[in-house]
Amino acid sequence: MTALTVDVQELRGRPGTQDELSRTVPAPKDLATVLIGIPQGSDLQLDLRLESVHEGVLMTGTASAEVSGQCGRCLDEIRYPLTVDVMQLFSWPQKAQAAADAEDEDTRLIPHDLTIDLEPVLRDLMVSALPFQPVCREGCPGLCSECGFRMEDDPEHFHEQLDPRWAALKDVAAGMPDPDSSSESST
Ligand SMILES: [Zn+2]
Ligand SMILES: [Zn+2]
Repeated sequence: MTALTVDVQELRGRPGTQDELSRTVPAPKDLATVLIGIPQGSDLQLDLRLESVHEGVLMTGTASAEVSGQCGRCLDEIRYPLTVDVMQLFSWPQKAQAAADAEDEDTRLIPHDLTIDLEPVLRDLMVSALPFQPVCREGCPGLCSECGFRMEDDPEHFHEQLDPRWAALKDVAAGMPDPDSSSESST
């Protein structure tokens, strides 16, 4: 038994009975994407109800944690609370074949020791609730692509020096005869 396992022995064969599960557990590792996630060991609050149903155990409730990471544009730190709704059916071992036959991909199996590991369920729910491209706020202007300056600090910030290719074109343009004078010479 770990902080993220639940014994459902008591619920077996007693449809209608239920268990409340309220726990604060240390977050397992890898509840994260590249830029953002739930720091390992930080508080993960579980408020779950486990209900015995004919096919197995229906788990409903919420899981909450503090997300921390970096804005993908300006690299500022981001922190915010995340709560996900949990709704998962776990089927009893002997029903496993039936569940497999039904090809019900949303159903997970209860192992023969009747201990449910919550980690894979929580991982799926919480990681998919994380933004793929986290930003500190909508419309964050990010960093200057030339020098890394935080655009937020001065929206007017820009560089006179353009891309070298443009600079080269400018030189070419400077070497060309003035359009007005060329039209004069053709007449
Ligand atoms: Zn930002
Ligand atoms: Zn710059």
